[in-house]
Amino acid sequence: MRDFAHVTLGQRLLFGTGSASIHLAAEVERLGAQRVMLLASEAALPSAQQVCQGIDVALVHTNVVQHVPIEVAEIARSLAREHHIDLLVTVGGGSAIGLAKAIALTERITIVTVPTTYAGSEATNVWGLTENARKTTGVDDAVLPASVIYDAELTLTLPVELSVSSGLNAMAHCVDALWAPRADPLNAALAEEGIRALAAGLRLVHSDPHDLHGRELTLYGAYPAAVSFASAGSGIHHKICHVLGGTYALPHAQTHAVVLPHVLAFNAPAAPAAAARVARALDGRDPVTALGELYRDLNAPRSLADLGFSESSISEAADIILPAIPASNPREVSPRLLAGLLHDAWAGAAPGTSTSPLAQAVR
Ligand code: NAD
Repeated sequence: MRDFAHVTLGQRLLFGTGSASIHLAAEVERLGAQRVMLLASEAALPSAQQVCQGIDVALVHTNVVQHVPIEVAEIARSLAREHHIDLLVTVGGGSAIGLAKAIALTERITIVTVPTTYAGSEATNVWGLTENARKTTGVDDAVLPASVIYDAELTLTLPVELSVSSGLNAMAHCVDALWAPRADPLNAALAEEGIRALAAGLRLVHSDPHDLHGRELTLYGAYPAAVSFASAGSGIHHKICHVLGGTYALPHAQTHAVVLPHVLAFNAPAAPAAAARVARALDGRDPVTALGELYRDLNAPRSLADLGFSESSISEAADIILPAIPASNPREVSPRLLAGLLHDAWAGAAPGTSTSPLAQAVR
């Protein structure tokens, strides 16, 4: 085993179906907070108010926008200052958490989060802001939520298609963690556990979205997924999706879901230990085949074209992505190979079949 340095981020996780409001009241008391700002979209507000029934909320803020435009962050920051807020509570997906992180970044206010998707932002110290249509991300421990409250009942309303994409977004955290710059045996073990739980949970959610056990298993799996990603850093998969989301405004969860099998097919032959972990967690002999079977069972999204990505953007996207690919990637990435991967993902082709004329033509 090679030498490694591992960092575990410190936060409390409270897991309990039907217990979100009890856990939230206990956390607010434990942290001694007096002035709570609730961040939840209009759509999430009814369930957020239920979750907050045991606490005093000083300010409710519903202007939640995906990828956190800087103007939206600035308004929320000045409201937090004006109202002397000492705790941020989010109920919602990664977008609500992203807004809380943007406030915490400048105002240094503690976050308690109640996630309702599987996106995993709750377990990372990574923030993101969008300015002039460019997304910037950074790392700051002040944006890591102090407490995460998981209540699977709150995920019952997440539509099946979004549940599948969001769960595969979480699975992408696991797979990418296996070859990301700070990959190590500890985050790899977490990643494997995440893949196993997510695959089992998503199959149950897909066959019955009201099955609480499936919802619990998927929500549980989202946590080691996010922790492994936070610990290992961004690998090739996240670098690709960051550009597709930031530059071409493709939807977050669905983009991750489409790209994952292509990255796995690309890297697996050069990363036998990672491939073995994915295969074991998916209970298959070959990781690419096993993931393909999962996608078939879940009727998962396949094509970037369906998400609004244009074939004519492939070589430009490859040029933007290429310099960001970490040196830790197990396989060398050329413009031609990257364009081939993107072409397969655009077309919804079988992963690893990059024989497109475009891929051949790019240098
Ligand atoms: P989201 O928060 O935008 O939610 C997607 C949609 O689902 C929204 O319309 C929302 O209203 C709805 N929704 C959420 N929970 C629901 C529920 N339980 N029932 C019904 N509808 C529900 O999307 P997301 O995928 O959770 O998060 C994406 C954002 O999070 C992106 O901006 C992404 O960059 C960010 N993110 C950041 C990190 C990080 O580490 N900083 C990690 C993952 C994601």
